[in-house]
Amino acid sequence: MIDTDELAKRNAEFADGGSFGNLKLLPSGGLTVIGCVDPRVDPSDVLGLELGEAAVIRNVGGRVTPATLRTLEMLSKVVQARTGGPRPGAVHYVVLHHSDCGITDLAAFPELLADYFDVPAGDLDAKAVTEPAAAVRVDVGILKQKLPAGAFVSGLVYDVATGLIDIVVAPARVET
Ligand SMILES: [Zn+2]
Repeated sequence: MIDTDELAKRNAEFADGGSFGNLKLLPSGGLTVIGCVDPRVDPSDVLGLELGEAAVIRNVGGRVTPATLRTLEMLSKVVQARTGGPRPGAVHYVVLHHSDCGITDLAAFPELLADYFDVPAGDLDAKAVTEPAAAVRVDVGILKQKLPAGAFVSGLVYDVATGLIDIVVAPARVET
């Protein structure tokens, strides 16, 4: 187990590096990633993101749930507060799912998943929890309905065995 002494040591090295300096709250890469909590799939590592480049929302499966949408709504208010309007420049929302995801084990607990997605248990098939590529398409579809026009949305599936992503849904602009 990693204790706080170890964390403090690593943090001191991080602080020494100085990469935290002069960063803005708004992600410099115009990127928001929705990914899974799985320790193997940290978007910063698997997508090579630098500190400050992306806002990252992580939950079980990297799914677009009602809670995810509430978080995005809150973030849009923060952007509004900071900039006085919508975020300037192009913005890109990435849904990042992966192989061997623990959410597939939760298929045995339909009530839990129904609550997570806020859908009747009978409608869970539409969420494709056992098929990452299909699930990515489902979640990109939801984002395209909910995000403001002009934002780019894409969907990726990361393979934990090869370390490579598959671009399941290429970036496309949300239409009005
Ligand atoms: Zn996962």
